[in-house]
Amino acid sequence: MDKVYLTWWQVDRAVFALAEEIRKHFMPDVIVGIARGGLIPAVRLSHVLGDVELKVIDVKFYKDIEERMEKPKITIPLHGSLEGKKVVIVDDVSDTGKTLEVVIEEVKKAGAKEVKVACLSMKPWTKVVPDFYVFRTDKWIVFPWEEFPVVVRE
Ligand code: 5GP
Repeated sequence: MDKVYLTWWQVDRAVFALAEEIRKHFMPDVIVGIARGGLIPAVRLSHVLGDVELKVIDVKFYKDIEERMEKPKITIPLHGSLEGKKVVIVDDVSDTGKTLEVVIEEVKKAGAKEVKVACLSMKPWTKVVPDFYVFRTDKWIVFPWEEFPVVVRE
């Protein structure tokens, strides 16, 4: 699969674009960041939107670029209640959409009053189109936090 490499600067601009869209339509009480890929955008968004409370959920699905497990598995569940809260779920990318499906269900089970999804990117084939996203691509995205600049020091 072709890859597209993003820089920190591009990701940060994308986060600001997301924040602007979210602010226009929906001010969340809580952001739910999906580990690992959604955490950095989720932390950044929670600051940019004005110190919105952040909760974390961890879902494992991919073993490698094109190798998935049978279905996404929650490895760290949501902590505490979301009773009556307006929630934005944040992930890096909606690919098959299956991770988001599982998380949306969990967030609703936790009592959220309104649920929206924000991703930096989406694939054209996803079954969960985020309410807010910045760009579409059919390539494998490499985020800046996934790269290892090799610096060898003696
Ligand atoms: P989905 O459940 O939508 O297939 O996949 C969701 C998760 O898989 C994302 O949260 C992300 O961590 C990972 N993923 C899917 N596609 C990509 C991609 O193109 N690049 C990276 N870095 N991760 C991806």
